[in-house]
Amino acid sequence: MFDLSNKVAIVTGGSRGIGRAIAEAFAAQGAYVVLGYANGEAAAQSAVESIVSAGGKAEAVRIDVSAMAATEQTIADVAKRLGRLDILVANAGISVDGLLLRLGEDDLDRVLGVNLKGAVACARAAVKVMMRARTGRIIFMSSVVGEMGNAGQTAYAASKAALLGVTKSIAREYASRQITVNAVTPGFVDTDMTRALTDQQKTSIAESIPLGRTATAREIAAAAVYLASDEAAYVTGHALRVNGGMYM
Ligand code: NAP
Repeated sequence: MFDLSNKVAIVTGGSRGIGRAIAEAFAAQGAYVVLGYANGEAAAQSAVESIVSAGGKAEAVRIDVSAMAATEQTIADVAKRLGRLDILVANAGISVDGLLLRLGEDDLDRVLGVNLKGAVACARAAVKVMMRARTGRIIFMSSVVGEMGNAGQTAYAASKAALLGVTKSIAREYASRQITVNAVTPGFVDTDMTRALTDQQKTSIAESIPLGRTATAREIAAAAVYLASDEAAYVTGHALRVNGGMYM
């Protein structure tokens, strides 16, 4: 079950955190994984080394998703060079937090530019390849914050809620080509993104989660493996919650 042998996957934001865990999990299931990074070349290379030393197949490619046209071109080039693209995980994301009254236009543009426009660019490039193959898996990394909102995260919540609409629209558009399009909506995951929180904030978050703890990146990766697999062929337009019961 969940065998990804002979499949090529691109994971944006694969250098760290959830993206790295997804890349490792895909490689463990047999996929050839392209880890995208923006500035973290060293981290991406070290993730590749760790995958290769565990017997997997991977490479790192700079895919800064804040530039739409360049992103699409890079993904098209990678797919051409490797001869296929079976799985895309649009995982790259940033958060710029702050109360609404302090939210600058630049902050809003930056967050939407990476989290929303960047993900759409990746999907567009992937769809072009997958349409010809008449099969494919696209997975967007949304968030529980896109479903329930969060004070101080207007820009981030907007970008993640938008991805749920994007997921359903693209799922409808390309279902006839057997391309499935789904989202994962993680709760709080212990990564660089959430490391800025104080211990007190983390404790109060954990207390608000029915399962009583935050998630590991591997737990999010497991959901991505399922959605990427042949076994999930009949699942499309879905947002898979991996949030410890935080939002039901
Ligand atoms: P992270 O540890 O901060 O890692 C972010 C990743 O995104 C890095 O690999 C980074 O690449 C990449 N990235 C940032 N800007 C980029 C850009 N312009 N172009 C390409 N890549 C870029 O974050 P994370 O916690 O793993 O989050 C991964 C995804 O899950 C994000 O979409 C996030 O919103 C979502 N998520 C996270 C949580 C959580 O609690 N952590 C919860 C729900 C959803 P570089 O290393 O090259 O900078």
